[in-house]
Amino acid sequence: MTSLRLSAPFAGWAMAIDAVPDPVFAERMMGDGIAIDPVDGTLRAPCDATVLMIAPTRHAVTLKLANGAELLIHIGLETVALAGDGFTTHVADGAVVKAGDPLISLDLDRVAERARSLITPIVVANDGYAVSVLARDKAVGIGDPLIEIQALAPVAAAAPVSEDSASCEVVIPLANGIHARPAARIAATLKPFAAEVRFAAHDKTANARSTVAMLGLGLRHGDTLLISARGEDARGAVTTVAALIESGMGEAGEPPAPAAIATTTGAATAAPGFAVGTTMPFVIADLAVAEAGGGVMAEAAALDTALAAVRAKLAEAETGKGAEIALAHQAITEDPDLIAGARARIALGKSAGFAWRAATRDQIATIEATGDALLIERAADLKDIERQVIAAISGAPAPAAPELADATVLIADELLPSQFLSLDPARLAAIVTARGGPTSHVAILAASAGVPMIVAAGPDVLAIAAGRTMIVDADAARFAVDPDAGTLAQARARVEQARAAHAAHIAAAGTDARTADGTRVEIFANLAIPEETDRAVAAGAEGCGLLRTEFLFLDRADPPSEDEQAAVYADIARRLDGRPLILRTLDIGGDKPVPYLPMPAEENPALGARGIRLSLARPALLKTQFRAMLKGVPAGQCRIMLPMIVDAAEFARARTIYDEAVAETGAQRAPLGVMIETPAAAMLADTLAAQADFLSLGTNDLTQYALAADRGNAATAAMIDGLHPAVLRLIAAAVAGARRHGRWIGSCGGMASEPLAAAILIGLGLDELSATPAAIPALKAAIRRLDIDHCRALAAQALDLGTAAEVRALAAQAIREAA
Ligand code: PEP
Ligand code: MG
Repeated sequence: MTSLRLSAPFAGWAMAIDAVPDPVFAERMMGDGIAIDPVDGTLRAPCDATVLMIAPTRHAVTLKLANGAELLIHIGLETVALAGDGFTTHVADGAVVKAGDPLISLDLDRVAERARSLITPIVVANDGYAVSVLARDKAVGIGDPLIEIQALAPVAAAAPVSEDSASCEVVIPLANGIHARPAARIAATLKPFAAEVRFAAHDKTANARSTVAMLGLGLRHGDTLLISARGEDARGAVTTVAALIESGMGEAGEPPAPAAIATTTGAATAAPGFAVGTTMPFVIADLAVAEAGGGVMAEAAALDTALAAVRAKLAEAETGKGAEIALAHQAITEDPDLIAGARARIALGKSAGFAWRAATRDQIATIEATGDALLIERAADLKDIERQVIAAISGAPAPAAPELADATVLIADELLPSQFLSLDPARLAAIVTARGGPTSHVAILAASAGVPMIVAAGPDVLAIAAGRTMIVDADAARFAVDPDAGTLAQARARVEQARAAHAAHIAAAGTDARTADGTRVEIFANLAIPEETDRAVAAGAEGCGLLRTEFLFLDRADPPSEDEQAAVYADIARRLDGRPLILRTLDIGGDKPVPYLPMPAEENPALGARGIRLSLARPALLKTQFRAMLKGVPAGQCRIMLPMIVDAAEFARARTIYDEAVAETGAQRAPLGVMIETPAAAMLADTLAAQADFLSLGTNDLTQYALAADRGNAATAAMIDGLHPAVLRLIAAAVAGARRHGRWIGSCGGMASEPLAAAILIGLGLDELSATPAAIPALKAAIRRLDIDHCRALAAQALDLGTAAEVRALAAQAIREAA
C-alpha cells in the first residue's frame, strides 16, 4: 500500500504547515504535513496504525502507518514544558490502533492557559513520502479527510522518461562497493540538484542524499542499482550520479580477495610494522546524555549548533588522509536521514544528545544488518561523529586523551578516528583491536602515522590485562603476549634494527638533498604554527618555504598588533637558527570569517576577495604585517611572498605599500616574491618575474583553479591531482618565466611532499621544494635516488600526456625502473 488517506484526528481548524508559528515546524525541519488548531480534547488515530512512541511527557505521539510512513502528531507548541500536566494517554508504545481510536486526551483549558499554542502539527517524519493536503484553512470534524501520504516508490526502469522523472540502472564497478567515502561523494554531487533521488537495490530503497541510508543498502561490487529521481532536474541528477558511479570513482576494480577482508574469525593487518611494547587496555565509555529535553526549540537549536561546530572543526583538517576522512565525516553531519531521525525524537521531548545518539544507533543497526564486513567498518565513523556531536551539545571539554607510557600497545574493542588523532603516535608501539577492519579510517590514519595495527583480533584480546609484554607482528597479523625470553630477545633485536635504520634516515635528513648525480635541490618545510618549527628542523628542513601566517589572525576578536606579530615571527626565525624563512602575507577570505574584518558572505569564496585582494583592500593591515615581518626576522633570513597574485599590476600595488614599510622601519629590504597559484600568474610568470624577486608555486590552488575543481568539495576531491598535465604545463610556463629573468622558483603546495611528484617537479626545473615536516626525511631519501637527466626526460614525457592517471603510471614506472 503506497498511498494512504488520513482523516482529521481532532475537530478544529485545519491550516497549512507553513502557517504554524514555530520555525521548527513551519520550515519543515520535522517533515512535511499539516496542522490543526483543535476545539475538542481527544486526539484520535487518523488511520489504522501502530504506535511507535508516546512521549514520556504525553504531549506527542509517533505512529507507523501501513505504507511505512512515520507520522508525528505534536499536540500544541512548546508543550513539552508542561511535563505531562493536562494530558492523559489511552494507548502504550507498540499498540495497534484503528482509525478513530482515542490516543491522548487533554484538558483543553489547562493546556491552553499554560502552553504557547494548541496548534498541533501533524507531519511525516521519515523520508520518501509526498504529502497532499486535502483540507486547509477550514474547519474539520473528526474523520474528515485531511491529508494523503504517498510513498515515493522508485520509478521502474522501463518507465518512460518524462519531464520530471527519470531512472536508470548501473552496475557498481567500485571494488569495495558503495562505502562511506563514495556515498559521501554521491550525496555531495547531488547538492546542486533539487530532484528527489532514490536508490533501489536488494528490495530496499534509500535516499541518495543520505550517506547512511545508502550504506544500509549494502551495495557491493557487481550489484545492479536502480537510480530514480523526481523533480524538475530529475534527468540531470540521474545522469550525473550514474556517470559518477560508472566512472568507478577512482576505486574501480575487482573486489579484494576474501582473505584480505577482516572477519570476526581472523585478525587482519590494518597498518604494517613490527613492535614490542607494554599493553594498555583502552575502553571507550559512552558520553552520558539525559533523555528528557528542555523544549523542542532549544533542543533543535542545540543540535544545529553542535552539528555546525563539529562540521567547522572537521573543515580544519588540511591535506592528506586526514582531510579525506574529514570530508566523509562532514557528510555524516549533513546527512538528512540522520538529522530527520534526531529531530523527530526531539519533537517527542527528547534531548538533542539523546535524539542524535538514538538516530545514529538506528542507522548503525541498519548497516550491521547488511552483514557486509566492509560496510560494518563504517559504523565506527558514525560512532565517532555521534561522540563528537554529543560532546559539542554538552559543551563539556573533550575527554582528555589517555597518557601513554613509551612503547604502548593499545588494546581496544575498536578505536575511532578522532580518538586515534588524540593519541601521541610517538608513544604508540602498536594497536590491536577486537573488531574493526583493515580499510577503516582509523587504519588509514595508523598507516600514515607509521603505527602498526592489527584489527579483528576477536574479543579474547579484551581480556589482556594492562602492563603485559606484547610482540605485535602486524605484517603477519600475529601477536604474542608474555613471550618466552628467547622469542622476546629476537623481537627486540628486530625492533632495534628497524629503529637504527630509521635513525640513520633521520640523521641523513640533516644533510643537503642532492640527486645521485649531485644536483642540489633545497628542501624546506611548510609551517602553520611556531611549534612545528623544531620538528621541521629535526626532520631536515633547510628553511621554511611557506609560513602560513593565518594562525595569527583567526579565532580572535581583534587583529594582532605589529609588536605581537613581530615577536612571533622572531620566535620562528630563532627556531630556524639562521635558515631562510619565507613568510606569506595573510591569505584569508569569505570562507574564513574573522570578526574584525567584516567580509560579506560570498557565493564563490575561492573566486572572491581573498588573499592579496583582501590585503590590498585594507592597506593598513598589509603594511602592519610587512613592518612586523621586517622588524621580527633578521635580514638575510627574511623573504616575503604574496598569495593569490593574478598579474603585475597587483604586485606593483603591494610593492608600493612594501616600499613604504621598508622606508618607515629603516629595515634592510628583504626579497619580495609572488606565489604562482592562479593560472593567470603561471601564464604571466615572465612579466611577474621581471618585477618580483622570486616565485613560489602554490600547487593546491593552482590545481583547483586549473581543473575548476573545488579543493574542499568531496564531489571533486578525486579530481584534485597536481600531476594533471594541464597543471604541469602551467608549472612549466612558470619555470620558463622565472628563468627568463634569472629568478629563483620553488614550490610550496602539497604536491612537493609526494616523492613521485617531486621527481617531476625537479625535472621541470624547480630550485626548491617545500614539504610538510613529517614528509621531509623520506623526500630527501627519494631525491638521493634520482638522476636529474631521468627527471627531465620524465617531466618532458609527462607534459605530452593527456590525464593525471597517465602521468602517475609513467612516473611510477620510471621510478621503479630507476630503483
Ligand atoms: C597552495 O595553494 O598550494 C598553497 C601553498 O597555499 P594554501 O594551501 O595555503 O592555499
Ligand atoms: Mg594557496
